[in-house]
Amino acid sequence: MRLSNIQIPRGTQDILPGVVEKWQFIEKKAKEICGKFQYKEIRTPIFEQTELFQRSVGDTTDIVQKEMYTFEDRGGRSLTLRPEGTAAVVRSYAENKMYGQAVQPVKLYYFGPMFRYERPQAGRYRQFVQFGIEAIGSDDPSIDAEVISLAMELYRELGLKKLRLVINSLGDSSSRKAHRDALIAHFKPSIGEFCGDCQQRLETNPLRILDCKKDRDHELMKTAPSILDYLNDESRSYFEKVKKHLTDMQIDFVVDPTLVRGLDYYNHTAFEIMSEAEGFGAITTLCGGGRYNGLVQDVGGPDQPGIGFALSIERLLSALDAEGVELPHEEAVDCYIIALGDEAMDYSMPLLQQLRREGFSAEKDYMGRKMKAQFKAAERLHAQHVLIIGEDELEKGLAVIKDLQTGEQKDVPLENIVSFLKREG
Ligand code: ATP
Ligand code: MG
Repeated sequence: MRLSNIQIPRGTQDILPGVVEKWQFIEKKAKEICGKFQYKEIRTPIFEQTELFQRSVGDTTDIVQKEMYTFEDRGGRSLTLRPEGTAAVVRSYAENKMYGQAVQPVKLYYFGPMFRYERPQAGRYRQFVQFGIEAIGSDDPSIDAEVISLAMELYRELGLKKLRLVINSLGDSSSRKAHRDALIAHFKPSIGEFCGDCQQRLETNPLRILDCKKDRDHELMKTAPSILDYLNDESRSYFEKVKKHLTDMQIDFVVDPTLVRGLDYYNHTAFEIMSEAEGFGAITTLCGGGRYNGLVQDVGGPDQPGIGFALSIERLLSALDAEGVELPHEEAVDCYIIALGDEAMDYSMPLLQQLRREGFSAEKDYMGRKMKAQFKAAERLHAQHVLIIGEDELEKGLAVIKDLQTGEQKDVPLENIVSFLKREG
């Protein structure tokens, strides 16, 4: 049976040549920066046991309740395509006993696809690529500032200027408990006016009512008790220290006490980076992160503190677009060989091989085109040089090398081609 009309799944995209170079550029930049900050790459599986996300991301979150791609494998195990990166990194940290490593804290980064069953729209995909980092094993406020600064540095290096860093503290568990009680008292009398999700959240995790997208304009949202009023001394001084480091590093930020992140595992520092570029659209969050002391223990490891962030490349690209920042995309060909006649054609194959081994990008015609059409092809590839070999030239042991930028043309002995091109650069 012939299948017709098969289309790409909803909420996914093909990244084609011409655009993929932007992705590669961003990936390269991210990896470079991680190198400078001494974060090492970790690659975990695309799928994990479903339970990992239920336990870490949290049973009551949108991700676990509505967005996971969960399936049973042939052995009857419940598996889930990873909706985010932190859970798996922390699982791997515990499983590989990285807390025993000599170098501490353990600083890791990942770069890869995540999967969420969401309603597709601009900036919201079902498969999207996240770059994220995790620093596990230190609860010094300076590492919080470092993590935030790494994200800011990536955006800065890529040329984004219209950014807004928003931070908050969710406090430690005793601060959160006091705040939770206050939230329940605040919302309970009027909870009937809120959406079904919020009604459930009141019991399970009232903090997340503040993160509700449907009820964000309700009067009670504005008057809700602020976590900052419930921080105990330790949490407060921790937060002050993080802010001081950011200020010292000249990283601008605003404190937003209503910032709560969608995942259950955060405490102390929480932050988001938004784009303030005009025309960016409704979804402006580029990056989200925070501290997750307690998570390592939740997935079966020792009590080790951690902090990290995740950002998606899709939204980063939209922000670059909105600010009109161009990333380099097409790589020009160094040398295009125009071979005329069978003998010259044959000669071009080992020559191509040699040029490529010498570090040049080199190309030739594979379509049996005439000379003029081959020139066109070379121009289309933005070739620096074309190298013309015909029967005559071969007999004389020469090639004609033409610089397509200057139009300059020279006869070069075949054995000098490589050194000539190297000189020309
Ligand atoms: P949102 O509130 O936009 O749904 P989130 O809280 O679910 O975001 P996180 O889980 O914190 O997002 O993920 C970190 C970052 O990953 C986000 O700031 C955003 O840049 C990006 N991201 C999240 N979901 C998607 C998606 N479906 N498509 C593209 N990027 C996404
Ligand atoms: Mg989401």
